Amino acid sequence: MKTVRFWPTPDRGGLGLFANQSFLPGETLGYYEADSNSVYVNNSHDPNAEMVFDREQHLWYLRAIKVIKRGKEITIQYQHPAPIPERCLCKAKNCSGWIGVK
Ligand SMILES: [Zn+2]
Repeated sequence: MKTVRFWPTPDRGGLGLFANQSFLPGETLGYYEADSNSVYVNNSHDPNAEMVFDREQHLWYLRAIKVIKRGKEITIQYQHPAPIPERCLCKAKNCSGWIGVK
């Protein structure tokens, strides 16, 4: 598997994950580890990646669902309901304005 690094960068008043190389749809970006920079992946209502569970490794990983150019922020759409609704700042055309609210 391709080794990929992520780095947190100030963005929209917080941290985000940015691609250090370009990716094509279906490519693996890296494993999601709770103690790594991957926790900084932001929500978007027009995400360019998704979380996929690897049944053999028993680990979650990030997979591109769109072309992601080097330097672009990597985003997923959060699937979990938020205990306290949080404002979404993704600026996607279809943004509902809230994270974790269906
Ligand atoms: Zn949004």
